[in-house]
Amino acid sequence: MNYYTELKNILDSHESFTITSHVNPDADAICSEIACFLLLERMNKKVKIINHSPTPDNLKFLDQNDYVELYEPGKHDDYIMNSEVILFLDLNGIGRTKSMENILRKSGAKKICIDHHQEPENCFDLMLVETDAAATGEILYDFIKSTNITEIDYQIALQLYSAIMTDTGSFRYERTSPKIHAIAGELLEKGVNPTDVYDKIYNQTDLNNLRLLGKAISGINTALNGRLAYMVITQADLRQYGAKESDVDGFVTHCMAVKNVVVGLLFLELEDGIKISFRSKGNIKVNKLAAEFGGGGHINASGARLYDKDIDTLVYNVIRQAQKYIGD
Ligand code: 5GP
Ligand code: MN
Repeated sequence: MNYYTELKNILDSHESFTITSHVNPDADAICSEIACFLLLERMNKKVKIINHSPTPDNLKFLDQNDYVELYEPGKHDDYIMNSEVILFLDLNGIGRTKSMENILRKSGAKKICIDHHQEPENCFDLMLVETDAAATGEILYDFIKSTNITEIDYQIALQLYSAIMTDTGSFRYERTSPKIHAIAGELLEKGVNPTDVYDKIYNQTDLNNLRLLGKAISGINTALNGRLAYMVITQADLRQYGAKESDVDGFVTHCMAVKNVVVGLLFLELEDGIKISFRSKGNIKVNKLAAEFGGGGHINASGARLYDKDIDTLVYNVIRQAQKYIGD
């Protein structure tokens, strides 16, 4: 029996579901959750999406019915404990659910991981982990197609298209395959408007935010013979521009625009530590570099969160470790 059939059997034979995803969710996280929600609702199941973090403002148009709930222990713990199945989407370690981690681990529900990141935690009852997939949305597309549980109508197509468009960097990252373009084509035929989706997700930047990006770009430095570029954003920067953590999503890609650069890093000072975003080109496995600092992700895009306080020392240490991945 293949994993799709196994998952379908689990969905068929259980009644109550919790869907969740990672801290600071991106469009692939939110859209995969909503696509699964719609699927389960059509199967007449009891289902809730519960997340640690609020949905970023630019993604709210994807959740016009407010399906996504913000985790509150008093409101959700009983529901999670009594769920028969928990679907973990676009993450592969339960720690990535932050404040929800304990209750999710405690629940006796069947735990299913649907994801495309490297090196999943070994704690799930079923894993649909396809590291070659461009997005979790692509795995869901394949699952729906192969099981025929529901028709991919406009409502579901909008979610899957948004997941795929964003996780491929608008169809330019490594995993932008002929297949992913064919899927996108089919989703557009369902009525998704690509200009509108792009505009709603990416052209909603607050002017202050754009100015913060300007400051971050002005501060880009290079190291390792110009092969590595990095930016640093402090709490003082965030305060100056009235920005929050999710507002700097995507900033690191600007490091990759520098000629000869093959590794880009963003160091973001958080209230309780530091987040690093890692990006690379080609064969350079930044997920391995991220793992040295307790993080993970994809070969060319990874992240880590540390409780270090001293950003300068961390910058120095990460660059030093990056050297062996870049070579000469
Ligand atoms: P970003 O830098 O855009 O936040 O994240 C890039 C990729 O790394 C994403 O696919 C994300 O899931 C993964 N990632 C980000 N932060 C962490 C982290 O703290 N731990 C792990 N394991 N993966 C992360
Ligand atoms: Mn993803």
